[in-house]
Order: sequence, then structure tokens, then C-alpha cells
Amino acid sequence: MTSGNLLDEPLKRSVDAKTLKGLENLGISTVRELLWHFPRRYMHLGELTPLTELPIGEQVTFVAKVVGTKLFTSSRTHTQVYKVTLHDGATSHEVSFFNPRKIVHVLREGTTAVFSAEVGVFNRKAQLTHPDFFLVDASQAEEFAQSPYPVYPLTKGLKNHQVVNAVRLFVDVLPELPDPIPHGVRSRRVVMGLVPALRAIHRPREDKDWQQARHRFRFEEAFVLQVALAQRRAADRLVTATPRRPVAGGLLEAFDAQLPFELTEGQKQVAAQIAEDMARDWPMQRLLQGEVGSGKTVVALRAMLSVVDAGAQAALLAPTEVLAAQHHRSISALLGPLAEAGMLGGADNATKIALLTGSQTTATRRKALLDVVSGDAGIVVGTHALLQDKVEFRDLGMVVVDEQHRFGVEQRDALREKGKVAPHVLVMTATPIPRTVAMTVFGDLETSTLRELPKGRTPITTHLVPLLEKPTWQERIWRRIREEADAAHQVFVVCPRIGDGPETDEPDADSGAAPEGDEARPPSRAVVEVLEELRDRPELAGLRIEPLHGRIPVEEREATMQSFAAGDVDVLVATTVVEVGVDVPNATLMVILDADRFGISQLHQLRGRVGRGSAASLCLLVTRVENGTPAYERLAAVAATLDGFELAGVDLDQRREGDVLGKAQSGGRSSLKLLRVLRDEDLIDAARHEAMALVAQDPDVEGHPGLRAALDELLEEGKDAFLERT
Ligand code: ADP
Ligand code: MG
Repeated sequence: MTSGNLLDEPLKRSVDAKTLKGLENLGISTVRELLWHFPRRYMHLGELTPLTELPIGEQVTFVAKVVGTKLFTSSRTHTQVYKVTLHDGATSHEVSFFNPRKIVHVLREGTTAVFSAEVGVFNRKAQLTHPDFFLVDASQAEEFAQSPYPVYPLTKGLKNHQVVNAVRLFVDVLPELPDPIPHGVRSRRVVMGLVPALRAIHRPREDKDWQQARHRFRFEEAFVLQVALAQRRAADRLVTATPRRPVAGGLLEAFDAQLPFELTEGQKQVAAQIAEDMARDWPMQRLLQGEVGSGKTVVALRAMLSVVDAGAQAALLAPTEVLAAQHHRSISALLGPLAEAGMLGGADNATKIALLTGSQTTATRRKALLDVVSGDAGIVVGTHALLQDKVEFRDLGMVVVDEQHRFGVEQRDALREKGKVAPHVLVMTATPIPRTVAMTVFGDLETSTLRELPKGRTPITTHLVPLLEKPTWQERIWRRIREEADAAHQVFVVCPRIGDGPETDEPDADSGAAPEGDEARPPSRAVVEVLEELRDRPELAGLRIEPLHGRIPVEEREATMQSFAAGDVDVLVATTVVEVGVDVPNATLMVILDADRFGISQLHQLRGRVGRGSAASLCLLVTRVENGTPAYERLAAVAATLDGFELAGVDLDQRREGDVLGKAQSGGRSSLKLLRVLRDEDLIDAARHEAMALVAQDPDVEGHPGLRAALDELLEEGKDAFLERT
């Protein structure tokens, strides 16, 4: 029998029907799936806590010998009770079985078994009722008592010992298996081989065994993923792209000449890097990250202009209509006459900027589509409406994706496919991505970071406003709004909810927000209700206060944003639609109500809506949660620093990878099952080095069948959605 056969064998040939059913509920039906179902933790059966000290509700498992039994009928309930006295070598425990039937014959004095039960209460005393058990012989008992006992993830109808027994049918008879980690890598990085690791993780003799085995599987996970990423990078280099070089006397030069500010050092460096990337005959794949306001858009715009100069088109994909419209507006403003091709006053070498969104009228849209297909529009800004089949480019040379975390990979791919040859791709994000996450998730992208903000910005002050402890501060918030408005500045008031209609949060609310249970909390503040309250406050009389949220028609929303940007609206009461990219330098106060309902990165993004001009700005995180709760701590962390990278670290610490990496990247067997990107930074780094060295030498990893199989599995399962970029 070959090894592959054993692993792919269905369990029904060897495992009893009941266990099989339980395992199937966990999606386990082959030997391979069973063996890769790793223990959640390990217990030491020999070190049983005295029953009286056991926490109620806790599941306990222990080896014990039956030292006494008693069968009687309860006078109160008239049921049969089988009381068994157990001894675990140190202490005695009494356990009761009601209506015991067969158990009377199985659990007799002198038998030894592994017991497992939830600790309950009876007559105010901790007690074990109806434990599960399975008999063991003396030598097994010894082993159970001495070695760490694995505790598996379970489901209803599946008992831990059933998994233990099923696993043991196979771990001891495993043949040689092809190892995804090549021998050389294993010895260099001191990681166990596959078969010993499987044995050690399921049947450790001491703690060191399973610890080393876990380390090995973590390394394997990181390594296979990094090999896949390295291969992807290598493959991308084989794709042909058209080099797009800036042209002397072109739009870019004219733009630079009229730019009202000087680029920061960071911007210059990134710009040079991008220019270098785009002069190559394989497609650029670059991630540009930088704080809100760090000047990413200007960098992207310069790259787009050089593409237009080279005779091609550039598309800018934005996650929302508001942002697409804003990009269109601000790019048009920055370009001035350079964007007025065919118009009176337009520059000679001017181009057009088309806007494509879902809510446009048919006529507007048709005109825009025409500009795109004819090539008249050198720059096309849009939402996912850009991805529709009807949208045809004359020659798409570059794709810029703004706020990439909001886009599915498929959408990015759809846009890429619109190029006749592969376009150069620049992905921008204002959500700082810690190095390890970048290595893990964007490992096939080159990364650039803008760390400094343009000069002339005053840092934002952040205060936590705990309304539970300081209810009177509410008044002070309203007074503060008045002061800002009187100084001709503008104010955002952000609420977690809209308020009228169905009580859901904004559809684009961060899924990582407020992990705590919802039931106990009062409803959060809503735009509709806060709007009314503000309009009624005497101290705010005369101010122009307008709402902004996802249920307001897009044109109306757009009009409100424009009035706000123009200074015609003093206070915007909004949901998170103002979150990303909204740029109003005159806005100086951000009030976030029930701030605890938002995730860390979202709060950081919201705060970035102010502090975009030269005036001092303030962000108030208003909350009704108690000091000392995790939610409060989160807010305190945001208040304590303006450094997005630091906050991303805090965020990552508190969340599970699934949340960080997005849905497609969580929950799968191959997708970060054991890895934690922060904790395992060194390991991921090591795996990456090994992976790059290997792929450089043997791009198709032909010399390593075990690794090939692991890669196939990773790709087949579709759990690598984040890798699928071609
Ligand atoms: P991001 O896209 O990173 O949020 P933007 O490119 O939108 O940042 O820039 C934010 C604001 O700062 C814009 O108003 C932009 O015109 C301005 N800006 C960009 N770069 C500079 C610079 N080097 N000096 C001064 N202002 C700048
Ligand atoms: Mg931006």
C-alpha cells in the first residue's frame, strides 16, 4: 500500500459507526483529515484537581480505578442510582449514574477507566454526573496518567476519547510520508519530520513532544504559503506588460510645474520606485501604504499621468461612490486646465477624467463610456461599476486600487483583465499593515510605505470622554462644537447607526468592531436622533447641521459632501460613510459617539478625517462603557497614539487572524490554522527566506513531491483566495 492510499482512505473502513458520524459532523471522513485534526490542548491526567476545587461547568478528564459501588433507588425521585467511588491514586471521588442499566455491569469494582465529565452542582456541592468513560488496561492507564492527554476540538455527539481511539488506529502504523518541508530546510531550521511530528502531536510522551510538533506544523504552514507566494512572484515576472515611461514635455511635467507644494522625501522615493517598476516589461505589483493624508493619492496621480503621457489609460478604483466622486473632484482640481481636454481654456496636451459610478444617469454614463473606449479619457475614476463588461478601455496601462481592504480579489482581477496586456497595478491602503501580515497576505506584492505626513500639519489631539463617569461632559461637547463653528471650522459627529428603518449598522461598518456581546448594551446613538437633538440645542442655534449616511440617495449625499467641503455646512452628522479618504482640510473636530462600537482601525481612520489642514484638530471618543473593560482599553489605546502601525499591532493582538485577513483567508485548514502572524513573526521570516531560496533554484519545486502536493492542496482548496491574482 502506498502512503497516499492510506491517508486518502475513508474512515468508514476502520472506525465504528457512531464515531464516524461524530467525525463527519466536523467534516472529517478520511484518515488524512483525521490525522490533521490536531488537539486543541493537552491535559495531565495525573494531576487532577480535587473535585471540590473544580470550576463549575468545566470539562474534566482523568484516569481512575473503581474502588466501590452502590446501587439503590432514590426515595425522592424513584429512579435508580448507581453511585461509584473512584480513586485516581491521590483522591477519591463519588460519581452518580441515574438509570444506569448496562453501566452496572461494565463499571465494576477493580476496573480502571478514563472518565470525562462536566463539573455540575448537586446539593450545593460540585459533583460529576454521568461521566463518559472508556475502560483501559493497566498499562494503558499508566501511559494515560504519565503522558499529556490530547483534548480535541469536538462537536455534539462526538466524545474526546472517540477521537483519541480513532487517531490511535493510525498514528502508530504510519508509513513513510512525503514531507512538504525538504530535508535540508528541516535540518537548517531544526524542525521535526512529518511522521514523527504527527505521532508527537497526537501521542506525546511529554510536553516537549507536542510543543516541537506544533512548531513544525506552524513552520510548514508558513513555508508552504511562502513558497506559493514566491512562485506567484516568479510567475508574475513572466507575464508581459508594456513599459510605460514618462515623456519629456508631457502632462506629468506640466503637473509638477503647477503643483502648489513640494513632494515629501517619502513621496519622491516611492515615485521613483514606481517609475522604475513601470519601465519594466513585466507588470508592477506594488502595495503603497501610508497614513491617511500622507499623500498617496498625489503619488498615484503622478504615476497615472506618466501612463497617459505614454499613450495609455489609467483607472482608479475606489470603494464607495462618495470616494470615487471625491477622487474625481480632487484630481480634476489638482490638474486644473490639464484635465480639460476639448474644453475652452484646456491646456494643449490636456486629457479628460471620466467618472463611472453605479448611480449615474444613463446619458451621463453613456458619455463617460464613450470617453473611455475612445481613449479621450486618460484617467478613469470609478467604483466597482468600472468592472462591468460594458466598460471597455482603448488601452488600459495601469490600475490603481484605493483602500484595497474593501475590495475582493476577484474585483481587482476583473479590472486587470480589461487591459490588452497586463496593466501595472498599484494598490493603496491607509490601514497600516504590520510587516508580518504584509509578508503573509501580500507576499507577492512589493511594498512601499509613506511614513511622514506632509509638512504644515498640526497633530490631532485625542480625548476619551467616558459619559458614565462624567455625564456633564456631554454639554461640553456641544459647546465645543459651537466654538469650532464660530472659528469657521467644521465638525464631524459620527454615530454607529442610522436610526430610521431597520436597525442595522451601516453595511460597510467594520466587522471587527465591538467584539463583546450585544444583548446587554443600550442601543447606540443614531444619526437621525442625534441630528434632531443637535438642531434643537439652543447653544447650536443657527448652525447648519446636515446628515450623511448610506440610506440617503447618492446624489443627495454627494451634494451634502460638496457643501461641507465648500464650508456651507458646519456640522455633518454621519455614519462611517465618512470613514475613508474624505478630505476636508477645514474640518477640525471629530466627535465619535459610542466610539466603543467601532474597531481600532476604523477609529483611526475616522480620526484621520480631521487634522488635514494647518489648524489644530481634536478627536473626541465618546463612550458609555466602563473604565477597565476591554472596549474601554481599546479606546484608550487609540487615544494614546497617532501611530497607525502601533495601533495595527494592538488591533492584531486583540483580534483573530480571520478578522485581520478577511473572510476568504480564514477558517480553512490550510489557511493559517496554527499560525499567528504577530507571535510567529520570526518563524514566518525564516520560512520566507527558505521559500525564496528554494523557488529561485527550483521554480516548480520538482525535486520535492511532498511540497508539490501541499501546494496543490493549498491552491485546490480555494482557501488561498488572496493568492489568486493573475
Ligand atoms: P492620502 O491619499 O494618503 O490620504 P492625499 O494624497 O489625499 O493623501 O493627500 C492629502 C492632502 O495633502 C491633499 O490635500 C493633498 O493635496 C495634500 N498633499 C499631498 N502631498 C503633499 C505635500 N507633499 N505637501 C503638502 N500637501 C500635500
Ligand atoms: Mg486617499
